[in-house]
Amino acid sequence: MNAVEAVKLPEKVMKAIVAHAREGKPEEVCGIVRGRRLTAFEAVRGQNIANDRIENYEVDPQTLLLQFAFEDAGDEMMAIYHSHPVSVAYPSATDAWNAHYPECIYLICSLEFDDAPVLRAFRMTPHWIDLDLAQLRRELPFREVRPNLHAYFQPGDRPAPAILAPLLDLITPPFYIDFYTDAAGEIVDSRVVSIVEHPIEVIQEEVIS
Ligand SMILES: [Zn+2]
Repeated sequence: MNAVEAVKLPEKVMKAIVAHAREGKPEEVCGIVRGRRLTAFEAVRGQNIANDRIENYEVDPQTLLLQFAFEDAGDEMMAIYHSHPVSVAYPSATDAWNAHYPECIYLICSLEFDDAPVLRAFRMTPHWIDLDLAQLRRELPFREVRPNLHAYFQPGDRPAPAILAPLLDLITPPFYIDFYTDAAGEIVDSRVVSIVEHPIEVIQEEVIS
């Protein structure tokens, strides 16, 4: 397996995200990160406009629009961050479903242990693959993670069920298989979202003498 390139995070950016997460607990907080490629410059707080902010997040559109101002200045929205007030720093099935920016890093700050915040970085890539979801649904333990959103998670460190062999030719675990059902229980939308974790390299501030 190839080494995955580290996300370079100045200590002040990491501290800003952790501070925001702490202020927002028990709700999830979110924001964006200005930078270039995998190097972060600045965390910008957003508003969480999700209906259920305890368990979900959605960055407000005004904050997302700042990405164009970043681009005008030669920078990028290199990451989107959010907090997990009581769960691990790993993308949920809902996070995977809502990962609309495959070119961005997703930073997740866990406050599961208040005195030991954990920040991890992921890239999430949606794939629209023609799957026999009816059959997969019968044979795999899908969970309804929120109303009408069903998810199966294939970890990277455990063998995949034989039924997934054709999928393994196309993408590498870990990944989620997510699908949405309508009121009648029919599948209306689906995708496979692969997850790659990037190590985080914290950059200490330069000491100005
Ligand atoms: Zn999340």
